[in-house]
Amino acid sequence: MSSNIIAHWLNLPQVYPEKIDIVGGSTIIYLARERGEFVCSGCRETVNQGYDFRRQYLRDLSCFEYSTYLFVDKFRVDCPSCGVRVEELSFARVFSHYTKRFEDYVAKLCEILPVSQVAELLNLDWKTVKEIDKRYLTEKFSHPDYSSLKILAIDEVSYRSGHKYLTVVLDLERTKVVWVGEGRSKETLDKFFGEIGEDKAKEIKAIATDMWDPYLASISEHAPWAKVVFDKFHVIAEYSKMIDRVRNEEYRAASEAGKKVIKGSKYLLLKNEQNLKQNQKERLKELLSVNEVLNTVYILKDELKMLWQCRSEEEAASFLEAWVGKARASGNEELSKFAKKLMRYSYGLINHAVYPINSAKLEGVNNKIKVIKRRSYGFHDLTYFMLKIKQGFT
Ligand SMILES: [Zn+2]
Repeated sequence: MSSNIIAHWLNLPQVYPEKIDIVGGSTIIYLARERGEFVCSGCRETVNQGYDFRRQYLRDLSCFEYSTYLFVDKFRVDCPSCGVRVEELSFARVFSHYTKRFEDYVAKLCEILPVSQVAELLNLDWKTVKEIDKRYLTEKFSHPDYSSLKILAIDEVSYRSGHKYLTVVLDLERTKVVWVGEGRSKETLDKFFGEIGEDKAKEIKAIATDMWDPYLASISEHAPWAKVVFDKFHVIAEYSKMIDRVRNEEYRAASEAGKKVIKGSKYLLLKNEQNLKQNQKERLKELLSVNEVLNTVYILKDELKMLWQCRSEEEAASFLEAWVGKARASGNEELSKFAKKLMRYSYGLINHAVYPINSAKLEGVNNKIKVIKRRSYGFHDLTYFMLKIKQGFT
């Protein structure tokens, strides 16, 4: 076979194929160097002469069914500014045992497959795969784009079985994660505002978030002009937790017969009714008919959801007031506490009428992050997890 064709396939500058060997399941391509110029890895300046060299294998993309290695002379140069340094080849990172295009291929596979599967497919160690992907993503996200951030969502993501948190800032218009930081304190979010700077912060019009005071404090310090919106997804999630507390209370207080009806009903109360099967619907009906408190809490949940359909501030304000009245009238302590909280944060609920945030989108993002966590936090490498979140929404 003509070495011209192989050189064409190889498509690498500075080198040409000299010899090809097949050893076991691998192809080894011996490369010769073109004369002259080396690039110093310290300063990236060109140096005319090599100092010494050693031969090195670089794994490249496969040829047919053969994993393929390049065997190449890697020089050191005596750089006038840096002293003796390893040269930088244009097709491989300085200390890597892989060509850049092989690393790019690994990273592309990691976008669609778990690290363990990529490792198996390419016969690599999972640590190697993860490090290659991490390097690729670090480079990819090294110049974040904070331009025209108008509608944001700020969300927390738990890890380490819920003991630790990340803060995720999402550009809602583009469904793009623009920033991820450790923790969920005011200082965490302060860092985000510090990074984007005052001018960019001035462009922010609305921010959807939780009724979480540390975030709210940071927003009012750095972007007081932005309208805070408490979206349906987060508020209803909190309401659902409250339902579960009420359910537990009711269970403890119930008679033996009552306990039987309440037992195992968590799912029935938290799911949307239209997602329940026929027999589940019947069980729910039975539960609600025998337990007045749970019935009230359940009905008020469906009613509360209507709040996010209001399209004017006046409408939203009076709807909220009426709802809070009913919740308080129930006499249930948990429900009254929740109503009190909604009143305290009413501004953000009413703002939704002006900035209707797409709650389904937020829920979708939340679910997707959970999938990313299952796939990539198994390594307990937080930086990698954060990069994968960014990659999930680009
Ligand atoms: Zn140099």
